Amino acid sequence: MTDEDGVPAEQVLAEIRELRALDRPTHGGRLFAYVYDPAVPGLDELAAAAHAGSAHVNGLDPTAFPSLLAMENALVGAAARLLGGGPGTTAPEVVGSVTSGGTESLILAVKAARDARPELTAPRIVVPASGHAAFAKAPTCSGSPSTRCRSTRRRCARRPPTWPPRSPETVLVACSAPSYAHGVVDPVAEIAAAAAAAGVRCHVDACFGGWTLPYLRRLGVPVPPFDFAVDGVTSISVDLHKYAYAPKGVSVLLHRDPALRAPQYFAYADWPGYTMVNPVLASTRSGGPIAAAYATLRHLGDAGYLRLAAATRDAVTALADAVRGVDGLRLMAEPESTVVCFTATDPELDLFVLVDELTARGWHTQPQLRYADLPPSVHLTVTASVAPRVAEFGPDLTAAVAATRAAGPVRLPAELHALATALTPQALTPELVAGLAAGLGLAGGQGVPERMAVVNTLLDAAPPALRERLLVEFVSLLQRPTY
Ligand SMILES: *Cc1c(COP(=O)(O)O)cnc(C)c1O
Repeated sequence: MTDEDGVPAEQVLAEIRELRALDRPTHGGRLFAYVYDPAVPGLDELAAAAHAGSAHVNGLDPTAFPSLLAMENALVGAAARLLGGGPGTTAPEVVGSVTSGGTESLILAVKAARDARPELTAPRIVVPASGHAAFAKAPTCSGSPSTRCRSTRRRCARRPPTWPPRSPETVLVACSAPSYAHGVVDPVAEIAAAAAAAGVRCHVDACFGGWTLPYLRRLGVPVPPFDFAVDGVTSISVDLHKYAYAPKGVSVLLHRDPALRAPQYFAYADWPGYTMVNPVLASTRSGGPIAAAYATLRHLGDAGYLRLAAATRDAVTALADAVRGVDGLRLMAEPESTVVCFTATDPELDLFVLVDELTARGWHTQPQLRYADLPPSVHLTVTASVAPRVAEFGPDLTAAVAATRAAGPVRLPAELHALATALTPQALTPELVAGLAAGLGLAGGQGVPERMAVVNTLLDAAPPALRERLLVEFVSLLQRPTY
Protein backbone atom coordinates (compact mmCIF):
# COMPACT_ATOMS: atom_id res chain seq x y z
CA MET A 1 0.00 0.00 0.00
CA THR A 2 3.02 2.30 0.26
CA ASP A 3 3.18 3.58 -3.30
CA GLU A 4 6.61 4.45 -4.52
CA ASP A 5 5.75 8.07 -5.08
CA GLY A 6 3.18 8.47 -2.34
CA VAL A 7 -0.47 9.36 -2.88
CA PRO A 8 -1.84 12.94 -2.82
CA ALA A 9 -3.60 13.89 0.42
CA GLU A 10 -7.02 14.37 -1.18
CA GLN A 11 -6.89 10.91 -2.73
CA VAL A 12 -5.92 9.25 0.55
CA LEU A 13 -8.81 10.93 2.33
CA ALA A 14 -11.17 9.86 -0.45
CA GLU A 15 -10.01 6.27 -0.01
CA ILE A 16 -10.71 6.40 3.72
CA ARG A 17 -14.13 7.96 3.12
CA GLU A 18 -14.96 5.12 0.76
CA LEU A 19 -13.93 2.52 3.35
CA ARG A 20 -15.87 4.32 6.08
CA ALA A 21 -19.04 4.20 3.98
CA LEU A 22 -19.22 0.45 4.68
CA ASP A 23 -19.27 1.01 8.46
CA ARG A 24 -22.32 1.12 10.65
CA PRO A 25 -23.53 4.70 11.07
CA THR A 26 -21.81 6.32 14.07
CA HIS A 27 -24.27 9.20 14.05
CA GLY A 28 -28.02 9.41 13.60
CA GLY A 29 -29.25 7.63 16.72
CA ARG A 30 -29.84 4.18 15.24
CA LEU A 31 -26.79 2.33 16.53
CA PHE A 32 -27.19 0.71 19.95
CA ALA A 33 -23.65 -0.50 20.62
CA TYR A 34 -19.99 0.49 20.25
CA VAL A 35 -20.60 4.19 19.70
CA TYR A 36 -21.69 6.89 22.15
CA ASP A 37 -23.12 9.88 20.38
CA PRO A 38 -24.53 12.94 22.14
CA ALA A 39 -25.56 14.56 18.84
CA VAL A 40 -24.24 17.93 19.99
CA PRO A 41 -23.48 20.19 17.01
CA GLY A 42 -19.81 21.18 16.76
CA LEU A 43 -18.58 18.69 19.36
CA ASP A 44 -16.92 16.37 16.82
CA GLU A 45 -15.03 19.26 15.28
CA LEU A 46 -13.91 20.54 18.68
CA ALA A 47 -12.68 17.13 19.81
CA ALA A 48 -10.93 16.55 16.48
CA ALA A 49 -9.11 19.87 16.72
CA ALA A 50 -8.05 19.19 20.31
CA HIS A 51 -6.96 15.68 19.31
CA ALA A 52 -4.89 16.93 16.39
CA GLY A 53 -3.18 19.55 18.51
CA SER A 54 -1.87 16.98 21.00
CA ALA A 55 -1.61 13.82 18.88
CA HIS A 56 2.18 13.86 18.82
CA VAL A 57 2.67 14.73 22.47
CA ASN A 58 3.86 11.75 24.52
CA GLY A 59 2.27 10.96 27.86
CA LEU A 60 5.28 8.83 28.74
CA ASP A 61 7.03 11.66 30.55
CA PRO A 62 4.88 14.20 32.43
CA THR A 63 7.92 16.41 33.08
CA ALA A 64 8.61 16.80 29.37
CA PHE A 65 4.96 17.43 28.51
CA PRO A 66 3.31 19.22 31.42
CA SER A 67 0.29 19.98 29.23
CA LEU A 68 -0.75 16.33 29.42
CA LEU A 69 -0.09 16.14 33.14
CA ALA A 70 -2.36 19.14 33.66
CA MET A 71 -5.13 17.75 31.46
CA GLU A 72 -4.92 14.30 33.06
CA ASN A 73 -5.10 15.77 36.54
CA ALA A 74 -8.14 17.79 35.49
CA LEU A 75 -9.86 14.69 34.06
CA VAL A 76 -9.14 12.70 37.21
CA GLY A 77 -10.43 15.56 39.35
CA ALA A 78 -13.65 15.78 37.35
CA ALA A 79 -14.20 12.02 37.61
CA ALA A 80 -13.42 12.00 41.35
CA ARG A 81 -15.83 14.85 42.06
CA LEU A 82 -18.60 13.20 40.06
CA LEU A 83 -18.10 9.91 41.89
CA GLY A 84 -18.17 11.04 45.50
CA GLY A 85 -14.51 11.99 46.00
CA GLY A 86 -12.49 15.17 46.42
CA PRO A 87 -12.58 18.09 48.84
CA GLY A 88 -15.47 18.12 51.29
CA THR A 89 -16.37 14.45 50.80
CA THR A 90 -15.66 11.31 52.80
CA ALA A 91 -12.99 10.46 50.22
CA PRO A 92 -10.85 13.62 50.04
CA GLU A 93 -7.64 11.80 49.10
CA VAL A 94 -8.85 10.23 45.83
CA VAL A 95 -6.18 9.90 43.13
CA GLY A 96 -6.32 8.30 39.72
CA SER A 97 -4.86 7.65 36.29
CA VAL A 98 -6.04 8.19 32.76
CA THR A 99 -5.96 4.92 30.82
CA SER A 100 -6.72 3.92 27.24
CA GLY A 101 -10.07 2.33 28.06
CA GLY A 102 -12.15 0.32 30.46
CA THR A 103 -10.21 -2.86 29.86
CA GLU A 104 -6.95 -1.21 30.86
CA SER A 105 -8.60 0.36 33.92
CA LEU A 106 -9.83 -3.04 35.08
CA ILE A 107 -6.49 -4.74 34.43
CA LEU A 108 -4.74 -2.06 36.47
CA ALA A 109 -7.24 -2.28 39.33
CA VAL A 110 -6.46 -6.00 39.52
CA LYS A 111 -2.71 -5.41 39.20
CA ALA A 112 -2.74 -2.89 42.04
CA ALA A 113 -4.68 -5.30 44.25
CA ARG A 114 -2.40 -8.21 43.41
CA ASP A 115 0.88 -6.34 43.76
CA ALA A 116 -0.24 -4.99 47.12
CA ARG A 117 -0.11 -8.57 48.39
CA PRO A 118 3.19 -9.96 47.05
CA GLU A 119 3.26 -12.62 49.76
CA LEU A 120 0.34 -14.51 48.22
CA THR A 121 1.22 -17.32 45.83
CA ALA A 122 -2.20 -17.71 44.23
CA PRO A 123 -4.08 -14.43 44.56
CA ARG A 124 -7.71 -14.50 43.47
CA ILE A 125 -10.23 -11.96 42.39
CA VAL A 126 -13.94 -12.42 42.78
CA VAL A 127 -16.06 -11.18 39.91
CA PRO A 128 -19.81 -11.67 39.63
CA ALA A 129 -20.94 -13.54 36.53
CA SER A 130 -22.52 -10.28 35.40
CA GLY A 131 -19.06 -8.63 35.50
CA HIS A 132 -17.36 -7.50 32.33
CA ALA A 133 -15.31 -9.99 30.31
CA ALA A 134 -12.27 -7.73 30.62
CA PHE A 135 -11.69 -8.86 34.21
CA ALA A 136 -10.66 -12.22 32.75
CA LYS A 137 -7.81 -10.52 30.90
CA ALA A 138 -6.23 -9.17 34.05
CA PRO A 139 -4.65 -12.32 35.47
CA THR A 140 -2.50 -12.86 32.41
CA CYS A 141 -1.38 -9.26 32.22
CA SER A 142 1.86 -9.37 34.14
CA GLY A 143 3.83 -11.19 36.76
CA SER A 144 5.12 -14.71 36.90
CA PRO A 145 2.62 -17.56 36.55
CA SER A 146 2.89 -18.22 40.28
CA THR A 147 1.41 -14.82 41.05
CA ARG A 148 -1.47 -14.99 38.61
CA CYS A 149 -4.88 -14.31 39.98
CA ARG A 150 -7.53 -16.82 39.30
CA SER A 151 -10.83 -15.16 38.85
CA THR A 152 -13.85 -16.80 40.34
CA ARG A 153 -16.87 -15.96 38.30
CA ARG A 154 -20.06 -16.37 40.21
CA ARG A 155 -23.54 -15.69 39.13
CA CYS A 156 -24.60 -12.45 40.65
CA ALA A 157 -28.16 -13.14 41.69
CA ARG A 158 -28.21 -9.58 42.97
CA ARG A 159 -28.26 -10.62 46.61
CA PRO A 160 -26.54 -13.96 46.95
CA PRO A 161 -26.36 -14.89 50.63
CA THR A 162 -22.78 -16.12 50.56
CA TRP A 163 -21.34 -13.51 48.27
CA PRO A 164 -18.51 -12.51 48.18
CA PRO A 165 -16.85 -15.78 49.10
CA ARG A 166 -14.11 -15.41 51.64
CA SER A 167 -10.75 -16.85 50.84
CA PRO A 168 -7.46 -15.80 52.39
CA GLU A 169 -6.10 -15.48 48.85
CA THR A 170 -8.76 -13.04 47.65
CA VAL A 171 -7.22 -9.66 46.82
CA LEU A 172 -10.15 -7.96 45.13
CA VAL A 173 -13.90 -8.16 44.94
CA ALA A 174 -15.54 -6.49 41.96
CA CYS A 175 -19.02 -5.27 41.20
CA SER A 176 -20.62 -3.35 38.36
CA ALA A 177 -22.52 -0.08 38.32
CA PRO A 178 -24.14 -1.04 36.07
CA SER A 179 -23.32 -4.26 34.23
CA TYR A 180 -22.91 -3.90 30.49
CA ALA A 181 -25.12 -6.80 29.43
CA HIS A 182 -28.31 -5.85 31.28
CA GLY A 183 -27.61 -2.41 32.73
CA VAL A 184 -28.23 -3.60 36.28
CA VAL A 185 -26.47 -2.00 39.26
CA ASP A 186 -25.03 -4.55 41.71
CA PRO A 187 -25.70 -4.15 45.46
CA VAL A 188 -22.46 -2.20 45.87
CA ALA A 189 -22.96 -1.18 49.51
CA GLU A 190 -23.51 -4.76 50.58
CA ILE A 191 -20.59 -6.14 48.59
CA ALA A 192 -18.21 -3.36 49.66
CA ALA A 193 -19.12 -3.85 53.32
CA ALA A 194 -18.41 -7.57 53.07
CA ALA A 195 -15.11 -6.89 51.30
CA ALA A 196 -14.08 -4.32 53.89
CA ALA A 197 -14.92 -6.70 56.72
CA ALA A 198 -12.60 -9.24 55.10
CA GLY A 199 -9.88 -6.62 54.57
CA VAL A 200 -10.16 -6.94 50.79
CA ARG A 201 -10.25 -4.24 48.14
CA CYS A 202 -13.53 -3.57 46.35
CA HIS A 203 -13.53 -2.27 42.78
CA VAL A 204 -16.65 -0.73 41.28
CA ASP A 205 -16.68 -1.13 37.52
CA ALA A 206 -18.54 2.00 36.53
CA CYS A 207 -16.88 2.00 33.09
CA PHE A 208 -20.25 1.99 31.39
CA GLY A 209 -22.48 4.04 33.62
CA GLY A 210 -20.19 6.07 35.85
CA TRP A 211 -20.80 9.24 33.89
CA THR A 212 -24.59 8.94 33.73
CA LEU A 213 -25.73 7.43 37.05
CA PRO A 214 -24.90 10.59 39.06
CA TYR A 215 -26.85 12.72 36.58
CA LEU A 216 -29.75 10.28 36.48
CA ARG A 217 -29.85 10.49 40.27
CA ARG A 218 -30.02 14.28 40.08
CA LEU A 219 -32.96 13.85 37.70
CA GLY A 220 -34.80 11.82 40.31
CA VAL A 221 -34.05 8.30 39.11
CA PRO A 222 -33.59 6.01 42.12
CA VAL A 223 -29.91 5.11 41.79
CA PRO A 224 -28.52 3.02 44.66
CA PRO A 225 -25.25 4.17 46.28
CA PHE A 226 -22.30 2.94 44.20
CA ASP A 227 -19.46 5.45 44.45
CA PHE A 228 -16.87 6.61 47.03
CA ALA A 229 -19.72 7.63 49.32
CA VAL A 230 -19.95 3.90 50.01
CA ASP A 231 -17.55 2.72 52.72
CA GLY A 232 -15.32 -0.06 51.53
CA VAL A 233 -15.22 0.99 47.86
CA THR A 234 -11.48 1.27 47.19
CA SER A 235 -11.40 1.94 43.44
CA ILE A 236 -13.76 2.93 40.62
CA SER A 237 -13.31 2.88 36.85
CA VAL A 238 -15.24 5.15 34.50
CA ASP A 239 -14.85 5.35 30.72
CA LEU A 240 -14.79 8.85 29.32
CA HIS A 241 -15.18 7.39 25.82
CA LYS A 242 -18.61 6.11 26.80
CA TYR A 243 -21.06 8.46 28.51
CA ALA A 244 -18.66 11.39 28.85
CA TYR A 245 -18.94 11.30 25.03
CA ALA A 246 -15.20 11.71 24.44
CA PRO A 247 -13.58 10.15 21.36
CA LYS A 248 -12.19 6.65 21.89
CA GLY A 249 -9.14 5.94 24.00
CA VAL A 250 -9.87 7.41 27.44
CA SER A 251 -10.93 5.93 30.75
CA VAL A 252 -10.17 6.90 34.34
CA LEU A 253 -9.19 4.59 37.18
CA LEU A 254 -9.69 6.15 40.61
CA HIS A 255 -8.33 4.93 43.96
CA ARG A 256 -9.59 6.12 47.32
CA ASP A 257 -6.06 7.20 48.36
CA PRO A 258 -2.47 7.29 47.02
CA ALA A 259 -1.40 4.22 49.05
CA LEU A 260 -4.01 2.11 47.26
CA ARG A 261 -2.71 3.34 43.91
CA ALA A 262 1.00 2.85 44.71
CA PRO A 263 1.28 -0.81 43.57
CA GLN A 264 -0.31 0.11 40.24
CA TYR A 265 2.90 1.84 39.11
CA PHE A 266 5.49 0.01 37.05
CA ALA A 267 9.03 1.20 37.72
CA TYR A 268 12.10 -0.34 36.15
CA ALA A 269 15.76 0.64 36.40
CA ASP A 270 17.37 -2.71 35.52
CA TRP A 271 18.28 -1.91 31.90
CA PRO A 272 20.66 0.53 30.23
CA GLY A 273 17.97 3.05 29.23
CA TYR A 274 16.15 5.65 31.31
CA THR A 275 14.48 4.53 34.52
CA MET A 276 10.97 3.83 33.43
CA VAL A 277 7.98 4.81 35.53
CA ASN A 278 4.53 4.08 34.12
CA PRO A 279 1.22 4.47 35.93
CA VAL A 280 -0.54 2.54 33.15
CA LEU A 281 0.19 -0.36 30.78
CA ALA A 282 1.48 1.67 27.86
CA SER A 283 4.70 3.63 27.86
CA THR A 284 4.34 5.85 24.82
CA ARG A 285 0.87 7.36 24.92
CA SER A 286 -0.64 9.83 22.49
CA GLY A 287 -1.87 13.07 23.97
CA GLY A 288 -4.65 13.13 21.37
CA PRO A 289 -7.37 11.23 23.24
CA ILE A 290 -6.55 13.01 26.50
CA ALA A 291 -6.82 16.47 24.94
CA ALA A 292 -9.99 15.46 23.09
CA ALA A 293 -11.57 14.26 26.34
CA TYR A 294 -10.50 17.45 28.10
CA ALA A 295 -12.10 19.56 25.38
CA THR A 296 -15.29 17.48 25.47
CA LEU A 297 -15.71 17.77 29.24
CA ARG A 298 -14.95 21.48 29.27
CA HIS A 299 -17.36 22.17 26.43
CA LEU A 300 -20.32 20.09 27.60
CA GLY A 301 -20.02 21.06 31.25
CA ASP A 302 -22.19 19.89 34.10
CA ALA A 303 -25.35 21.36 32.59
CA GLY A 304 -24.62 19.69 29.26
CA TYR A 305 -24.24 16.26 30.85
CA LEU A 306 -27.42 16.74 32.86
CA ARG A 307 -29.33 17.64 29.72
CA LEU A 308 -27.88 14.65 27.82
CA ALA A 309 -28.76 12.31 30.70
CA ALA A 310 -32.34 13.60 30.63
CA ALA A 311 -32.58 13.00 26.88
CA THR A 312 -31.14 9.51 27.34
CA ARG A 313 -33.54 8.69 30.17
CA ASP A 314 -36.49 9.76 28.02
CA ALA A 315 -35.22 7.60 25.17
CA VAL A 316 -34.80 4.61 27.48
CA THR A 317 -38.34 5.03 28.77
CA ALA A 318 -39.77 5.20 25.25
CA LEU A 319 -37.76 2.22 24.00
CA ALA A 320 -38.76 0.11 27.01
CA ASP A 321 -42.39 1.05 26.40
CA ALA A 322 -42.02 0.00 22.77
CA VAL A 323 -40.69 -3.40 23.87
CA ARG A 324 -43.48 -3.82 26.44
CA GLY A 325 -45.99 -3.09 23.72
CA VAL A 326 -44.95 -6.06 21.58
CA ASP A 327 -46.46 -9.45 22.16
CA GLY A 328 -43.76 -12.09 22.56
CA LEU A 329 -41.03 -9.84 23.94
CA ARG A 330 -40.08 -9.26 27.57
CA LEU A 331 -37.57 -6.91 29.20
CA MET A 332 -34.70 -8.80 30.84
CA ALA A 333 -34.74 -6.22 33.63
CA GLU A 334 -36.62 -3.01 34.28
CA PRO A 335 -34.26 -0.33 32.93
CA GLU A 336 -32.39 1.35 35.79
CA SER A 337 -29.68 3.01 33.75
CA THR A 338 -29.12 3.45 30.01
CA VAL A 339 -29.57 -0.11 28.76
CA VAL A 340 -32.70 -1.64 27.32
CA CYS A 341 -32.36 -5.41 27.07
CA PHE A 342 -35.11 -7.78 26.00
CA THR A 343 -35.70 -11.43 25.32
CA ALA A 344 -38.43 -13.46 23.65
CA THR A 345 -41.19 -15.22 25.56
CA ASP A 346 -42.30 -17.14 22.49
CA PRO A 347 -39.98 -19.87 21.10
CA GLU A 348 -41.29 -19.19 17.62
CA LEU A 349 -39.96 -15.63 17.82
CA ASP A 350 -36.29 -16.00 16.96
CA LEU A 351 -34.30 -13.11 18.45
CA PHE A 352 -31.40 -13.57 16.06
CA VAL A 353 -33.74 -13.24 13.08
CA LEU A 354 -35.29 -10.21 14.77
CA VAL A 355 -31.85 -8.59 15.10
CA ASP A 356 -31.36 -9.04 11.34
CA GLU A 357 -34.84 -7.67 10.64
CA LEU A 358 -34.07 -4.62 12.76
CA THR A 359 -30.76 -4.16 10.92
CA ALA A 360 -32.65 -4.31 7.63
CA ARG A 361 -34.77 -1.43 8.96
CA GLY A 362 -31.69 0.60 9.91
CA TRP A 363 -31.56 -0.21 13.66
CA HIS A 364 -28.30 -1.77 14.80
CA THR A 365 -28.75 -3.77 17.99
CA GLN A 366 -26.49 -6.26 19.75
CA PRO A 367 -27.50 -9.92 20.11
CA GLN A 368 -26.40 -11.63 23.33
CA LEU A 369 -26.11 -15.43 23.40
CA ARG A 370 -27.69 -17.64 26.05
CA TYR A 371 -25.49 -17.93 29.13
CA ALA A 372 -25.95 -20.16 32.17
CA ASP A 373 -29.67 -19.95 32.89
CA LEU A 374 -30.12 -16.68 30.99
CA PRO A 375 -31.86 -16.86 27.61
CA PRO A 376 -30.51 -15.13 24.50
CA SER A 377 -31.31 -11.43 24.49
CA VAL A 378 -31.03 -8.23 22.51
CA HIS A 379 -28.99 -5.40 24.01
CA LEU A 380 -29.52 -1.70 23.34
CA THR A 381 -26.99 0.80 24.64
CA VAL A 382 -28.99 4.03 24.59
CA THR A 383 -27.30 7.38 24.09
CA ALA A 384 -28.63 10.90 23.86
CA SER A 385 -28.64 10.82 20.05
CA VAL A 386 -31.43 8.22 20.11
CA ALA A 387 -33.94 10.62 21.68
CA PRO A 388 -35.01 12.40 18.46
CA ARG A 389 -35.46 9.05 16.63
CA VAL A 390 -37.19 7.11 19.34
CA ALA A 391 -40.73 7.47 18.02
CA GLU A 392 -39.66 5.63 14.85
CA PHE A 393 -38.49 2.58 16.81
CA GLY A 394 -41.83 1.18 17.99
CA PRO A 395 -43.43 0.80 14.55
CA ASP A 396 -40.21 -0.66 13.14
CA LEU A 397 -39.95 -3.10 16.04
CA THR A 398 -43.54 -4.21 15.45
CA ALA A 399 -42.87 -4.67 11.74
CA ALA A 400 -39.60 -6.50 12.43
CA VAL A 401 -41.34 -8.86 14.85
CA ALA A 402 -44.04 -9.59 12.28
CA ALA A 403 -41.39 -10.33 9.65
CA THR A 404 -39.53 -12.53 12.15
CA ARG A 405 -42.65 -14.54 12.90
CA ALA A 406 -43.34 -14.91 9.19
CA ALA A 407 -39.80 -16.12 8.53
CA GLY A 408 -39.88 -18.56 11.44
CA PRO A 409 -36.91 -19.55 13.60
CA VAL A 410 -33.55 -20.52 12.16
CA ARG A 411 -33.30 -24.28 11.96
CA LEU A 412 -29.68 -25.29 11.87
CA PRO A 413 -28.96 -28.21 9.54
CA ALA A 414 -28.70 -31.31 11.73
CA GLU A 415 -25.00 -31.78 11.09
CA LEU A 416 -24.24 -28.17 12.07
CA HIS A 417 -26.27 -28.50 15.24
CA ALA A 418 -24.49 -31.73 16.11
CA LEU A 419 -21.16 -30.02 15.50
CA ALA A 420 -22.01 -27.09 17.74
CA THR A 421 -23.21 -29.20 20.61
CA ALA A 422 -20.79 -32.13 20.48
CA LEU A 423 -17.53 -30.69 19.20
CA THR A 424 -14.77 -29.92 21.69
CA PRO A 425 -12.52 -26.92 21.06
CA GLN A 426 -9.55 -29.31 20.83
CA ALA A 427 -11.18 -31.21 17.98
CA LEU A 428 -11.54 -28.09 15.86
CA THR A 429 -9.15 -28.48 12.92
CA PRO A 430 -8.30 -25.74 10.40
CA GLU A 431 -10.13 -27.74 7.71
CA LEU A 432 -13.24 -27.99 9.84
CA VAL A 433 -13.17 -24.26 10.55
CA ALA A 434 -12.65 -23.41 6.89
CA GLY A 435 -15.57 -25.64 5.93
CA LEU A 436 -17.80 -24.14 8.58
CA ALA A 437 -16.83 -20.58 7.67
CA ALA A 438 -17.52 -21.22 4.00
CA GLY A 439 -20.89 -22.78 4.85
CA LEU A 440 -21.79 -19.75 6.95
CA GLY A 441 -20.63 -17.23 4.37
CA LEU A 442 -17.69 -16.09 6.50
CA ALA A 443 -14.92 -17.22 4.19
CA GLY A 444 -11.99 -14.90 3.66
CA GLY A 445 -12.41 -11.92 1.36
CA GLN A 446 -16.18 -11.96 1.50
CA GLY A 447 -16.41 -9.79 4.57
CA VAL A 448 -19.27 -10.38 6.95
CA PRO A 449 -22.68 -11.54 5.68
CA GLU A 450 -25.61 -9.15 6.01
CA ARG A 451 -27.71 -11.69 7.86
CA MET A 452 -26.06 -13.15 10.94
CA ALA A 453 -28.93 -15.22 12.38
CA VAL A 454 -27.48 -18.57 11.30
CA VAL A 455 -24.04 -17.72 12.69
CA ASN A 456 -25.59 -16.54 15.95
CA THR A 457 -27.76 -19.65 16.18
CA LEU A 458 -24.72 -21.86 15.74
CA LEU A 459 -22.77 -19.96 18.40
CA ASP A 460 -25.78 -19.96 20.69
CA ALA A 461 -25.98 -23.74 20.50
CA ALA A 462 -22.29 -24.11 21.37
CA PRO A 463 -20.96 -24.12 24.92
CA PRO A 464 -18.85 -21.05 25.90
CA ALA A 465 -15.44 -22.68 25.35
CA LEU A 466 -16.39 -23.68 21.81
CA ARG A 467 -17.92 -20.25 21.13
CA GLU A 468 -14.62 -18.68 22.04
CA ARG A 469 -12.62 -20.96 19.77
CA LEU A 470 -15.04 -20.64 16.84
CA LEU A 471 -15.09 -16.87 17.01
CA VAL A 472 -11.31 -16.68 17.31
CA GLU A 473 -11.02 -18.81 14.19
CA PHE A 474 -13.64 -16.83 12.27
CA VAL A 475 -12.10 -13.48 13.19
CA SER A 476 -8.66 -14.80 12.35
CA LEU A 477 -9.94 -15.66 8.89
CA LEU A 478 -11.08 -12.06 8.43
CA GLN A 479 -7.81 -10.63 9.68
CA ARG A 480 -5.48 -11.41 6.84
CA PRO A 481 -3.03 -9.02 5.24
CA THR A 482 -3.87 -7.37 1.94
CA TYR A 483 -1.09 -6.64 -0.53
C1 LIG B 1 -17.08 -1.07 28.11
C2 LIG B 1 -16.94 -1.71 29.46
C3 LIG B 1 -15.69 -2.19 29.89
C4 LIG B 1 -14.49 -2.27 28.98
O1 LIG B 1 -14.17 -1.05 28.43
P1 LIG B 1 -13.39 -0.87 27.05
O2 LIG B 1 -13.28 0.60 26.98
O3 LIG B 1 -14.23 -1.46 25.97
O4 LIG B 1 -12.06 -1.54 27.17
C5 LIG B 1 -15.62 -2.67 31.18
N1 LIG B 1 -16.70 -2.72 31.98
C6 LIG B 1 -17.91 -2.29 31.58
C7 LIG B 1 -19.07 -2.36 32.52
C8 LIG B 1 -18.06 -1.78 30.30
O5 LIG B 1 -19.27 -1.37 29.87
